[in-house]
Amino acid sequence: MSSSDNVVRNVPTVLDVMRAIEWMAPPHLALEGDVNGLLVGNRTNPVHRVMLALDPYPDALHQAVKSGADMLVTHHAILYHPLKRIDTATARGKALATALSHDLAIYNAHTNLDVAFGGVNDVLASRLGLLDTRILDKTGSDGLRKLVVYVPPSHHEVVLDAITKAGAGRVGHYSHCTFNTTGTGTFLPEEGTHPYIGTEGELTRVNEIRVETVVLESLLEAAVQAMLAVHPYEEVAYDIFSLQLEGVPYGIGRIGDLPEAMPLSNFAETVRDRLGLTHIRFGGAPSTMVRRVAVLGGAGGKWAKKAKELGADVLVTSDVDHHTVAEAWHDGLAIVDATHAALERPVLDVLFKHLSAVFGSTLEIVVANVVEDPFTWL
Ligand SMILES: [Zn+2]
Repeated sequence: MSSSDNVVRNVPTVLDVMRAIEWMAPPHLALEGDVNGLLVGNRTNPVHRVMLALDPYPDALHQAVKSGADMLVTHHAILYHPLKRIDTATARGKALATALSHDLAIYNAHTNLDVAFGGVNDVLASRLGLLDTRILDKTGSDGLRKLVVYVPPSHHEVVLDAITKAGAGRVGHYSHCTFNTTGTGTFLPEEGTHPYIGTEGELTRVNEIRVETVVLESLLEAAVQAMLAVHPYEEVAYDIFSLQLEGVPYGIGRIGDLPEAMPLSNFAETVRDRLGLTHIRFGGAPSTMVRRVAVLGGAGGKWAKKAKELGADVLVTSDVDHHTVAEAWHDGLAIVDATHAALERPVLDVLFKHLSAVFGSTLEIVVANVVEDPFTWL
């Protein structure tokens, strides 16, 4: 399935935009205690223009309001810590008041976007040219179910199309994996029914196709609803089976290899250049050769041990403190500390492409043109 399979053709609502983002970054991937979702606004409102930014306020929010955007989509949450009062003399309080008075919806995808396949950490790994990328720290796994549905031959293709577009039948790098057998179904429509085939009160035999496919637990509901929406029967016969197979693991951070080992100082320069920075800092002997690289967008110092455990020579992350860097150095793990914003900013381009593919010309998508790093580098 590609994100363009479900192109929305009417004016989208806030909920439509949320669903499109959650297709890419399902909420259940978020780490425990995180804050994600629609934090301000009305999900039924139409959206003509959406603005994307890392941080919601103050600059991105004011730019969104000024440009007439109906929705601001950010990585970091505008309401992360519980608020007990909205003091409009503070920047956050003022931002909330401005959003409410302009009917601006504010939505964020934080650690679900970090964990998501194709999200913050995959984008970062690919930006740094890592090969054979794997999950750094598994945080869960998506179980597998088997969906079986019986359809008349006339509706076989449309049902197949609906369930596979909803994500059923994806196995590794293959999509549309189904098995189909023909057989005879029987039923007797009782009084008051309106059967698609057959007559009330008569035992009916029909040719049917049994379609079976696997589907991730998180996509099951969407696949069933998509199937029911196009199935012609009044009472659709379908089964859902639990499987003993291991589900699909997901997790935070990525680890992979550079095509060739290089000195740490050269690698740090590469990271600086590929992330568009003018400065970068690193801990470790500059001449140490590095090849296996762990990446973690955001503040990732606490994953240093995990990176070392998995054989990383260097961890690329941000906001790492003195003690963590010093200890990692002595344990044989170098740390490249880029800025928090630079590590996460590349995902906005991916979100932009994804939303453009889903909504086409029905939605104007703009990436906020604001300073994302709160530090000034001399
Ligand atoms: Zn972050």
